[in-house]
This record gives sequence, C-alpha cells and structure tokens, in this order.
Amino acid sequence: MAMNLGTDHPVAKKQHRCESCGGAIQPGERYVRARVVDGGEAWVWKSHDDCQAASQILFDQGIDNDGMLICVSDMDDDYREIVATASASLARRLWPPPTPSAESASAARGETP
Ligand SMILES: [Zn+2]
Repeated sequence: MAMNLGTDHPVAKKQHRCESCGGAIQPGERYVRARVVDGGEAWVWKSHDDCQAASQILFDQGIDNDGMLICVSDMDDDYREIVATASASLARRLWPPPTPSAESASAARGETP
C-alpha cells in the first residue's frame, strides 16, 4: 500500500509533466508535489491542481485505485460525470466542451458529431 509522506504546493521553476493527465505543468504555474513510498520504492508525484482536485473528488466518494488517486487520463465518462456533479467549473477546465470551430470543421468534412 502506497503511503504519502507529504504534499506541498510549489510554483514550477521549469516545465514538469503532470502524472495525472500527462499534460505539461508550465513554469510559474502552481502544482501539487507529493512524496510517496510503497515498499522499498519512493518517488515524487507531480500533478496540476485541477487534476489533483478531480482525483480527490472521486477519492472522497470511495473511488480509488488501491488506495491511490485515480489519474485524470484514466477517468471514463462515469467518473467525469461524478467530477462534473461535484464541480462543474473544474470539469469544464479539465474537459472543455468542443469548440464551435472544431464542430464546423467536422461538419465541413461531412461527419455527424
Ligand atoms: Zn494534469
């Protein structure tokens, strides 16, 4: 079972990769940095604030991955729905609705959305 030794909330000095969604954490952006140990292994988990918040919403409802937070990249529609119910604005930032330009582009190609 993984154990969190401590979480802090630094401002990125260089670009990092968010381990939850796989996206970039830009320099100057605040992010979540947690020190984790599991058995003989220790590592540092970095993620966006928003990604951490979404995982925490699921965790608080008893949805986790063996005691660990579920990654945003692993959240299916059901999980996204739970996050959106808890915080619509958070869900919109994480999973923005399709932009009108993208829709008209696919319509121009004769695709049905
Ligand atoms: Zn992220």
